[in-house]
Amino acid sequence: MSKNIFINNLSNKNPTKDITQDDIKYKIPEITKKQNITVKVNNRVSFSKKNLPIIAGPNGVESRKLIFKVGEFLKKKGVKILRGHAYKPLTFPYRSKKYLETKDEGMKWLDEVKKHLGLLVTTEVTEIKYLERISMTADILQIGSRNMQNLELLKEIAKLNKPIILKRHFGASIRDLLGAAEHILVEGNNKLILCERGVSIPHTHRETSRFALDIQAIPALKEICNYPIISDPSHASFWAPWVEPLALASVAAGCDGLIIEMHPDPKNSAVDPLQPLNFKQFANLKSRINKLSKIVNKKII
Ligand code: PEP
Ligand code: MN
Repeated sequence: MSKNIFINNLSNKNPTKDITQDDIKYKIPEITKKQNITVKVNNRVSFSKKNLPIIAGPNGVESRKLIFKVGEFLKKKGVKILRGHAYKPLTFPYRSKKYLETKDEGMKWLDEVKKHLGLLVTTEVTEIKYLERISMTADILQIGSRNMQNLELLKEIAKLNKPIILKRHFGASIRDLLGAAEHILVEGNNKLILCERGVSIPHTHRETSRFALDIQAIPALKEICNYPIISDPSHASFWAPWVEPLALASVAAGCDGLIIEMHPDPKNSAVDPLQPLNFKQFANLKSRINKLSKIVNKKII
């Protein structure tokens, strides 16, 4: 349902990086509409004001063995959504032998995990040409931060009418994020989940940390839009010891879900070995989130 939308008096007199009343009226009317949004993934899992789904898994679908090991652990812990990328852009063009994209083979392993463990899967779509294959497997399609404003990709993904996680680019204002989100909504797909995953700032407090989680984005987004906003403290901090405090802070700030990167043996993760939690750290985090969820009145899924 691609359509050209014409608005008379498309005001753009004083654009800023923050959101004006003009923006709400003319540029982001859909995403800022006051309405109750529930993004249903299946009968057991929805993203909404009341729920706190946890998405967890490794960065990449490195091997069948890895993805089954993680899947079995998550199932035991009651986590219902597995993350992992078979297609994966990297900041730099060089890949270690260990980290070749597993592509179609990786997607088949994800199919097997779904079939045998009954988990839902979220995985990143990097290019339109992979969309057909990925959408055969993925229950939630993830748009990585680097593609937040890849508007053609957004449009094609939106047309499939599946749940979408749209990650905020690390240099994007909330206004830009909502503009990208609006591109999805005008295609007629409102199964949209926004994700804060850290922004670039002049310093990040230690050399192993990469971005800074913009906790403030959570209440700021809630003030202006009703779509679920989830937090990814793993990619924000790049540093496993900070993931638990940042996850707790995100829940306290009102997020509607979490993405946590985890790996059975983080130091041997094919990429970003400082970032994933190991199983024990993940179990600790989950039990602390359980306690906090009662205070914020959210149901962990
Ligand atoms: C990821 O989810 O593995 C990822 C690379 O995230 P981001 O797009 O936020 O960097
Ligand atoms: Mn990652």
